[in-house]
Amino acid sequence: MIVGAGPAGTSLALRLARADQAVTLVEASPPESLDRQFRGEALMPHGLAALEAMGLLPLPAAVPQRPLAGWRFVLEQRELFRLAEPLEVSPAAVPCTLISQPALLGQWLRELQSLPAAQVLLAQRATGLLWGGGRVRGVQLADGRALEASLVVAADGRGSRLRQQAELTLLRTGSPIDLLWFRLDGHDPSPLDGCFTTVVGPTGLFSAFDSASGGVQLGWVVDRQPSASGSRRNALESDATPWAERFAALSPARLAAWLRASADGLQEPVPLRVEVGQAKRWWRPGLLLLGDAAHPMSPVRAQGINLALRDACTAAEELLAALSPAAGAAEAEEEGAERLDRALARIEARRRPESETLQRLQADETRRGNLLRHQGWLRRTLALGAPWLGPLVAGRWRQQQTPLRLGVTSPMGASGAAGSPVRRQ
Ligand SMILES: Cc1cc2nc3c(=O)[nH]c(=O)nc-3n(C[C@H](O)[C@H](O)[C@H](O)COP(=O)(O)OP(=O)(O)OC[C@H]3O[C@@H](n4cnc5c(N)ncnc54)[C@H](O)[C@@H]3O)c2cc1C
Repeated sequence: MIVGAGPAGTSLALRLARADQAVTLVEASPPESLDRQFRGEALMPHGLAALEAMGLLPLPAAVPQRPLAGWRFVLEQRELFRLAEPLEVSPAAVPCTLISQPALLGQWLRELQSLPAAQVLLAQRATGLLWGGGRVRGVQLADGRALEASLVVAADGRGSRLRQQAELTLLRTGSPIDLLWFRLDGHDPSPLDGCFTTVVGPTGLFSAFDSASGGVQLGWVVDRQPSASGSRRNALESDATPWAERFAALSPARLAAWLRASADGLQEPVPLRVEVGQAKRWWRPGLLLLGDAAHPMSPVRAQGINLALRDACTAAEELLAALSPAAGAAEAEEEGAERLDRALARIEARRRPESETLQRLQADETRRGNLLRHQGWLRRTLALGAPWLGPLVAGRWRQQQTPLRLGVTSPMGASGAAGSPVRRQ
């Protein structure tokens, strides 16, 4: 049984059900609110490689999708550099691809509902775990039903209730930043040229991109506020300047003019608290944490969906091997439960190092952004020297992105590695 129909849970359920493994997917949201406004959109090459290994490429044609054109950095209203996608120079390189995540999950859920091995329970919240003989034996649903299962996969996101119930402590790394997330539906196409554009100036830092499903998404970085006991009020709340004007004030002329002209299409910000951490342990007998439930990711450089898919890819491989009749026959003296638990330990051992490394690299990227946000002399020096310094910084930045795009360990076993659409440099 899998709890949570995000990218981790849905892709794993589909992979297992396509292989005729009985699977129940439980999701708290009703179908209509699965279309939540802010679900990440960027599939990096390493996420696409996991999809390919799970047999989930090509993406369904009905899912809004487009390759990202490139990455662009603007300091003090001047372009520092712009790099085209894909950043890798290999002929096998694939670009970062933007997708409508709700549409993709919707397509996967529809296919899942059509497969005889799958049962999909939407609008059903798992409220607790069933225990027996020191193992997790299933879940309790909010409607009172108790669903038994030989394995529960908790893919219920960063606030995972099942992780808490299993007392799998989350070691929080903490984040110096949070985000305000905006959607803007402009009258004219945006001048972002299909690039993920980061803009930094004396009053702040924001990123913007053309969403795969239309409109523009913008994220404004804010310093993490002190806890409720702290007394400092958010300076942003007391600033009456309209948001479109705040974005425009940092932007180069063409973007600034478009932002001002599109001001009426800018929706109110949604505050997003950034949560980063690692569960001290990813499994207990009969229970596995996957995706954000095991390792909540910062949104910096779009790693969360991609790592969730890579976790699902490894989990599918290990679970299918552990559940295969051949595995049972070869180890007839063992309990199937123990065989499953050993697979859970292998999944954690194979996946934890990559999520830890990429969280560290995300933190490095956040530190560099904060340095630019807070050090005016550095911004001004880079902006003034952009024609000479831009290519140097771009080369360094491209190098730093490699693990965040290609991953650091393979989620596929030896047989699957060749199936990656991305050749390592
Ligand atoms: C603004 C923003 C932008 C982002 N952009 C990107 C991006 O571009 N690329 C990227 O890779 N990542 C991005 N991320 C991160 C990414 O969205 C997450 O890391 C990713 O969705 C994690 O996938 P998951 O399947 O582990 O969990 P989730 O996607 O969080 O899914 C968990 C599911 O479990 C369900 N659930 C929770 N509790 C229960 C329960 N008790 N019972 C039943 N169901 C339950 C929830 O309703 C949810 O559907 C972004 C995050 C944010 C906030």
